[in-house]
Amino acid sequence: MATRATETYRLPAASMANTRSLKILRYGARADGPKAYIQAGLHADEAPGFLVMHHLIRALDRIDARGDISGEIVLVPVANPIGVSQWRDDWLQGRFNFSDGINFNRRYPDLAATVAGRVQDRLGDDADTNIRLIREACGRALDAIRPEDETAHLKHKLMKTAHDADIVLDLHCDHQAIMHVYIGASLWPAARDLSAWMGASATLLADDSGVTPFDEACSRIWWKLAKRFPAHPVPPACLAATVELRGLADLSHEMAAEDADNIIRFMIGRGLIRGAVADPPALPNTATPLSAVEHIKSPVPGVVVFSKQPGDSILAGDVVAEVINPLPSKTAERTHPVRAAADGFLFARSADRFARPGRILAKIAGRKPLKNKGANLLTL
Ligand SMILES: [Zn+2]
Repeated sequence: MATRATETYRLPAASMANTRSLKILRYGARADGPKAYIQAGLHADEAPGFLVMHHLIRALDRIDARGDISGEIVLVPVANPIGVSQWRDDWLQGRFNFSDGINFNRRYPDLAATVAGRVQDRLGDDADTNIRLIREACGRALDAIRPEDETAHLKHKLMKTAHDADIVLDLHCDHQAIMHVYIGASLWPAARDLSAWMGASATLLADDSGVTPFDEACSRIWWKLAKRFPAHPVPPACLAATVELRGLADLSHEMAAEDADNIIRFMIGRGLIRGAVADPPALPNTATPLSAVEHIKSPVPGVVVFSKQPGDSILAGDVVAEVINPLPSKTAERTHPVRAAADGFLFARSADRFARPGRILAKIAGRKPLKNKGANLLTL
């Protein structure tokens, strides 16, 4: 018998006569095995995740009809009903909240200190018991938060739905990019099956990116508590990752169906779905530190002509792009080359072709850390 159930969560009204709601799909039951939580469209202008969800629901419905769900799989196919309504000048803008300008994937709650206070006298020698205690404490810590506005309610509901999952996948994309994954350094290399199945050309590792995106809010608490309580076993019990499904316009049924199939294969390997699966393929590239990602920026305004594309290897000193300002000037050249500072490979670049000083034009995965601990390792 099919197990799929749908919850509709109504967000509090932010304006008179208007309310929005969040739909949450659940397959299987937590009592039967591990829990996976997958969401798409937290950045509501990133289309590929929605299409992967479409194919994932189709595949899971078939698996569910066969009775092969062996845990709980929770999907939030449209995770940001606020962002998907933010049309402006005929352009959907779903990355930053129109009401306060804040990125929808930043500033999630850090529950570590509150949970530490709740569990410090209760942790023991058994890792599974500690996991259960910490998850319960996380749930209670979230229950104690009183969100103030619609966006805070949305973020809180997403966290509440995901906080006790073994696996959390947040589906995103970059502007023009190859497949890549952001994940906690403490989850590596145990999570290499995720990157391998997704065919991630870059896996970028950080235990603290400095801005608490959704995946990190779910996973970072585990290594923070492990550090705080070294006498007790506290494993990294939530494999949370941000999966960047290539670029904004990389949308086809073939690609999305393959991505959904790869998520299914990953979940079979992780015991959420009954079935046989081969070993994951070889990883295209080894994982590298997020702190070694070079953000290529132009110091001048103009239009951008890229000389490198996603997937290209880069050597220090290579010209990644030229920024052209067609106006003649006595003090500046009309052509300004923008060079990479370190070796690596280009995994993402901007989709439009305008530069202004400080704007990120491209991202290069290097090997040697370029930024200090505590710095913001992500973008705005
Ligand atoms: Zn995104």
